[in-house]
Amino acid sequence: MNISQIFEDHVMQTYGRFPLTLVEGQGARVRDDAGREYLDFCMGIAVCSLGHCHPRVVSAIQAQAAKLTHVSNLYFTEPQGLLAQEMNENHIGLPGKIFFSNSGAEANDGLIKSARRYGHLRPQQDGKPRFEVITFKQSFHGRTLGSMAATGQEKIQQGFDPMLPGFRYLPYNDIEGLESAISPETVAFLLEPIQGEGGVNTATKEFLDALAQLCEKHDLLLMFDEVQAGFGRCGESMAWRTISPEINPDAISWAKGMGGGVPIGAFWLSDRIASDGKTKFSSLMGAGSHGSTYGGNPLVCSAALETLREIREQNLPYQAKEHEKYIRETITSWGLPVITEIRGKGLLLGISLNANLVKTEDGETPALKVVRQLIQRGLLLVPAGPETVRLLPPLNVTRSEIDEALALIYSTLSEY
Ligand SMILES: *Cc1c(COP(=O)(O)O)cnc(C)c1O
Repeated sequence: MNISQIFEDHVMQTYGRFPLTLVEGQGARVRDDAGREYLDFCMGIAVCSLGHCHPRVVSAIQAQAAKLTHVSNLYFTEPQGLLAQEMNENHIGLPGKIFFSNSGAEANDGLIKSARRYGHLRPQQDGKPRFEVITFKQSFHGRTLGSMAATGQEKIQQGFDPMLPGFRYLPYNDIEGLESAISPETVAFLLEPIQGEGGVNTATKEFLDALAQLCEKHDLLLMFDEVQAGFGRCGESMAWRTISPEINPDAISWAKGMGGGVPIGAFWLSDRIASDGKTKFSSLMGAGSHGSTYGGNPLVCSAALETLREIREQNLPYQAKEHEKYIRETITSWGLPVITEIRGKGLLLGISLNANLVKTEDGETPALKVVRQLIQRGLLLVPAGPETVRLLPPLNVTRSEIDEALALIYSTLSEY
C-alpha cells in the first residue's frame, strides 16, 4: 500500500505534509509504518495533552462508545453537563456558561457571534448595532469565514476575499494607539494571551491590563482565544493567568488540548451583568441563537472530562512551569549563536532561529528546515511562523524525555 499515492489521488492537497505515515502512539512516542519510533513534541499541535493513548482517556472513550455515542443536543446527556461543571469549577474558576463546539475555529465563531449579540443589546448612540471586533497582527483564530476574518495574517486570508466585515487588526503588545482605534462600532477585543501559530508571542501584563481597562471604560467585551494555550499548557490552568491573574475576561474559547485527542472545542461567556444592569453576558446566546449537531456529544465529552480531571489531579500545570524553567536554563546554557531567543510559557515554547545562520533553498523557511532535520533524527516538532520552532510536548512528559529531545535539538542546532 502506497499511502502517499492514495492521498495524492483522493485527499485534497490543502496540507504540506511531512513524508511520514504514523500508525500508533503511546505516551510521548509515535511509530511510523516502517516501525521507526519518534519522540513526539508536536502532539498533534498541542492536542494530546496527556500523550498518546493515555489509559484514562482510552478507557473513557471505550466505555462511552459502548454506552452512548451521540444523541444530539435535543436531550440532556451526563458527560456534557459534568464536563461543563469540571471546566467552570476547577479550571476557569469564574461563574459563566459554556457552549460546546467541535473545533477552535467554531468556538471563535461563537465568540464573534456573541460579540455581535452584545452589539445589539448595547448599540451605538444612533441605535445601530455595534459589531466590530478588534484583533491583532500575527494572530491565528482559525479557518472558517468568521475566524479567518478575525485572523490578523494576510497569508491566511489570501484568495478568499471579500472577508466578513467587522474586524480590525492592531499590533500585538502595542498599547499606544489602542484607545484611539476604538470606534463607535467597536464591541470587543479578541486575542490570544500567548500567540501560538504566529510565532509564540506572549502578551505583556501591561498590554492585557490596558485592554481590560479599555473594555471597562468603553463597554467592550474582553475575549480570550485560549484554543492552544489553555488548560494547563502554559503553567496555569488558563494562559492569561500566567500573565495577569486578576483579569476577569468576558468570554473565552478553547479546543486543542482540552479533549486529550478527540475533536472538541468550547466557548464560555461570563455570568457578569452587562452594562444594562440586568443581562448576564452568558444569556446573550439564548434559545435558538446557536447550535451544533455534534457539539458536546457524550463520546468527546467523556474523553475531555477525564483529560481535564487528570490534568488537575496530577497538577500538570505546575509541572509545565517547572519543565519550562529546566528547558530554558538548558537551552540558554548552550550559548548557541543560531538561537536568538526562547519565547512562550510552560510547555508552549518557541525557539527563535537566527535566519542568517540557517541557509535554506526553494523558499523553505529556516524553521521548516530545522523541523525536517529533527524528524530525520527522530523528534517531531512544529514550526510557528518562518523562524521559530515550537515545542509542544505532552503535559505529563518526563524529565528524561525532555533530556532526549534537548540532546537531539542540540546536536542539530550546534551544526549551524
Ligand atoms: C488552532 C487554533 C485555532 C483553530 O482551531 P481549529 O480546531 O483548528 O479550528 C484557533 N485559535 C488558536 C489560538 C489556535 O491555535
